[in-house]
Amino acid sequence: MAEQIPNLTAINNDLCDFSSRWSHDGDYMRCRGCKRPQITSCMDMEFPHAASCRVAGVVDPHPWRRYLEIMERLAQAAQRPTGHKES
Ligand SMILES: [Zn+2]
Repeated sequence: MAEQIPNLTAINNDLCDFSSRWSHDGDYMRCRGCKRPQITSCMDMEFPHAASCRVAGVVDPHPWRRYLEIMERLAQAAQRPTGHKES
């Protein structure tokens, strides 16, 4: 039987914090302030906020990179011990 993954509080908090600013929409990340999107292939370009966006300059300039960093930590925490068999 699968067990719960322990000690995810910091990662969960970062995910909640991230999703208060960004919305993951398929292959786009959207700013919750201005609703502008950025596709995965442009992740290393600065995020293209609308000129009127109230959170431009305040939120992560590279949200996909921030998302990947959180996902990497989650993937590391979620790694199964070697020898574990999927049931
Ligand atoms: Zn914006």
